[in-house]
Amino acid sequence: MIIRPAILPDELDRSYQGRIMRLNGYNDPKVTIKQASSCLQSLEKHSQKLSVVEILSKIANFKLKKFVLEHTTMPLRRSITGCLTEIGHGEDTIPTLLVRSGICTARHDAYLCPKCVKEDQDTYGVSYWHREHQIPGVIWCNKHGSPLGYVDGNKAFLSPPSEFLSSATMFDRALISQYKKNKFIQKFIKISAELMKRNKPFSHKRVAQIFKQRAIEKNIRNGGGTFKNPLFSDIILEKFNLEWLKNTFPQIDKKEHGKRLHHLDDIFTAEKGSRVSTAYILAASILYRTPEEALNALTKTKIKKTKNDTIDPMYGTPFDDSELKHSYIKHDGNYNKVVSDIPRKELSIKNRLNNLGLPNLSIKNGIAIEFINEFIINRKSLNESIAETGISEDAVERLLRTLGNSYIPVMKEINKSKRHG
Ligand SMILES: [Zn+2]
Repeated sequence: MIIRPAILPDELDRSYQGRIMRLNGYNDPKVTIKQASSCLQSLEKHSQKLSVVEILSKIANFKLKKFVLEHTTMPLRRSITGCLTEIGHGEDTIPTLLVRSGICTARHDAYLCPKCVKEDQDTYGVSYWHREHQIPGVIWCNKHGSPLGYVDGNKAFLSPPSEFLSSATMFDRALISQYKKNKFIQKFIKISAELMKRNKPFSHKRVAQIFKQRAIEKNIRNGGGTFKNPLFSDIILEKFNLEWLKNTFPQIDKKEHGKRLHHLDDIFTAEKGSRVSTAYILAASILYRTPEEALNALTKTKIKKTKNDTIDPMYGTPFDDSELKHSYIKHDGNYNKVVSDIPRKELSIKNRLNNLGLPNLSIKNGIAIEFINEFIINRKSLNESIAETGISEDAVERLLRTLGNSYIPVMKEINKSKRHG
């Protein structure tokens, strides 16, 4: 058995993991999760492997979605994304998403408010890490108005913040009062907080279209814009305080005046986009007069579909190749089952599997799997493998052609170089 403490208001997932660890006398977070997992398996009598975030939600006695929405930074990190945009925060349809993105942090260091630490000790008998302090751009406490401090890296989350009161680096009070007056910083913080309340992401594609239209109206260079208009990354540099920007969006360090910065200047191009939602929030703070106007634009703008739009702009790019591969493995190479894994119709799935060199293995009760095992894994001869499995020559031909599909681009390059050489 394992001691299961109640999760505290706005407590960050990793902070909760640390408290479970300490209460149960462990000193390794991995061991803690392993013990918690085996405790849950024996209680719930199941054998499936759970992700860390699922284990924590069960230990807290929370539904997964509620836990993700209230105690992780996922709603912000995935607020605007180009990947699996149809999957809401905390849905368990794609297990790899929970494993990969479940309890990641939204910024590099661990942030604390000394006044909250003291108050929490008085109220709960323990101090803990608040999620709202771990949001990029937040460097003062919303409740107390006073500067936050930070501890390098994210290992600190496993210990109580009270341990770092004397060693944390505190933000300068004078700087904070300067930042508080910057209306763009104010908008940025408000928009981030509003995005955190949503239960599903916006797609890069949708946001790019909406922002591009707005940038055109405001004469901001947006990919296709005129060179007379200022670069978007230059406008960001000009409007936000540089030191705040360096803390909030470290990629800005590579920015030179007049030169494009991919992370910011490509957000108007759906195919490129930025990997970090912070880039879009910075943009929204510039493009709209108020946070409400920005949120309205994101949620209510109607996007016209074009003839080439096979993908709904609300959802953006569906499964990437690694997700497809994962689903293919899970379903023993059965194409129809992979297609049924996709929450909505996606006509190109079978073609994409084919191009990846992943053949349909559902033919004739698993004969294809047997054949590939004999011929490719066990290295038997072609004739022996056919004789032992009873597969038809036609089926073998189809399988081998598909397995060779991923080689086609390489062969085309060889052919091209032979022609030119
Ligand atoms: Zn506070």
